[in-house]
Amino acid sequence: MCIVLHGVAVGAGVAIGRAHLVVRGMDDVPHRELSLEELPVEADRYEQAIKTTRRQLEQLRSEIPENAPSELGAFISLHLMLLGDVSLSREPIDIIKDKCINAEWALKLQTDKLSDQFDSIEDNYLRARKQDMLQVVERIFKNLIGLSTEVVSEAEDFEEDTILVAYDLSPADTVFFKDSRIAAFVTDAGGPTSHTAILGRSLNIPSVIALGHARELINEDELIIVDGSMGVVIIAPDNVILKEYRRRLREFRSLKRQLSKLKNTMAITQDGINIELLGNIEREEDIKPLHHLGADGVGLLRSEYFYLNRHVLPTEDELYDHYVAIVKKMKGKQITIRTVDLGVDKNPRWFGPSHSMNPALGLTGVRLCLAEPVMFRTQMRAIMRAAVYGSVRMMWPMISSVSEVQQCLTHLNTAKQQLRDRFEEFDEAIQIGAMIEIPSAALTINAILKCIDFVSIGSNDLIQYTLAADRGDESVSYLYQPSHPSVLKLLLHIIRTANRMNKPVCVCGEMAGDEQYTRLLLGMGLRCFSMNANNILPVKNQIIQSDVLILETEVQKILRNEDPDKALKLLRKLNATNESSEMVD
Ligand code: PEP
Ligand code: MG
Repeated sequence: MCIVLHGVAVGAGVAIGRAHLVVRGMDDVPHRELSLEELPVEADRYEQAIKTTRRQLEQLRSEIPENAPSELGAFISLHLMLLGDVSLSREPIDIIKDKCINAEWALKLQTDKLSDQFDSIEDNYLRARKQDMLQVVERIFKNLIGLSTEVVSEAEDFEEDTILVAYDLSPADTVFFKDSRIAAFVTDAGGPTSHTAILGRSLNIPSVIALGHARELINEDELIIVDGSMGVVIIAPDNVILKEYRRRLREFRSLKRQLSKLKNTMAITQDGINIELLGNIEREEDIKPLHHLGADGVGLLRSEYFYLNRHVLPTEDELYDHYVAIVKKMKGKQITIRTVDLGVDKNPRWFGPSHSMNPALGLTGVRLCLAEPVMFRTQMRAIMRAAVYGSVRMMWPMISSVSEVQQCLTHLNTAKQQLRDRFEEFDEAIQIGAMIEIPSAALTINAILKCIDFVSIGSNDLIQYTLAADRGDESVSYLYQPSHPSVLKLLLHIIRTANRMNKPVCVCGEMAGDEQYTRLLLGMGLRCFSMNANNILPVKNQIIQSDVLILETEVQKILRNEDPDKALKLLRKLNATNESSEMVD
């Protein structure tokens, strides 16, 4: 009988294949009571398991293959950090000794306690880190009982149509993915902001997560369909469904093949307008795929990454070395470095817990930098020094008014003077920009643009603040509508004002990488899009089929209307004339 399961879609495309169930190590935990004499040996066994786990993770981190997802290194570092925490490295040993029990059972008791603690955390992002903790626990457990720690071991020779069905996948598991020909993966655990979801997206294979009970319903070797675009898994499909999905699979494969031909095609519209396509990156490793896809540069380096997973703030020299390595990899192409945008979901350890009732409206983005001027100026000095090695721009996040821009400029001037006093070489004329992602900044863009060189629209936050809908909260996701007329009016106002003032304007939120909005943004006058590498070719495909002059007239109709449903219908109509299945060679 055919069963349909719904989860969270994280990797586009369709896969039809045979299920391979991944057995989870913690399913059957042995429980033994020990005599007092046995306790030192048991405690030592636990310590050895921790050491082995640390060694394995460090080795994995040092041997990350080139084609592995770019976020992997940081995720493994997070796992190492969790492993080093006393709650996993020491407290289970105390439990062994206090309760006179075996190491596996002590680990289980501690895991249950930690799980409850994670469940009671209010912040979505931090709560989702429970899965990371469980993945580390599973690895310790497997080392205790002598099981292989890899879900996908190098020894396993999968058929081309293997679909992995797991409780969860750790970052380390994904190291082997690309080489092991896995067609898709589905997991019971994970939420939209879990690392499994983030890795799934970057792996670029169909995947559905957060299915709940897939492992109980799917049998080993059973035929299943994974629809990574809709977040659907179909178990034992009948012939009619199978036929339809085989057709979709063929369509998807042919689209992918065609898109790959666009790597060297210029992003020029039918009426000859050149469009800049840039990448959003977080780390040095993200640059290579952008060169490969022919991106014009980097429109957004999210610099928070270097501040997370560490105990103290990075020094100016550490930041400088990090940025120089990145800038050199750009090979002369432009890169825009955003100063740290911490707070809300990105809290470094040295930050302590947020006490704000409403962190997204609290001390975040540039507000935090202005409250911590030493940290702010340290980063600005490092960026300006690294700018000597290439084409670098600096950008401030979460600007809400021109007075904030002026305060930032004062700090910038102080930072420049500090560098001059030290006779340091730096880029005196570095271009300065602001992220426009708060409605108050959008509405006063004229004044802001008079003080700086360029702007970049952070549509993710602009939408959330305009519609008062938390971008990470599933329960209000129906309200988070990029095509809402109020969002479109703000976008148009920013783009038009910047164009009129001859100041570069780009969109670097998810809207820029979503091909559904390419034509709309082109019609509004946008000429620069910055996105994740995976989206560059689909967006380019839209661009080369568009005639901006025609689009401008069509987009006016959408912009005149104030009804969100009607706006959506008109947007669909705008895209219908340019379906992505129509490829231009
Ligand atoms: C945005 O808000 O659109 C953006 C690009 O910034 P981030 O997603 O890092 O908040
Ligand atoms: Mg933002």
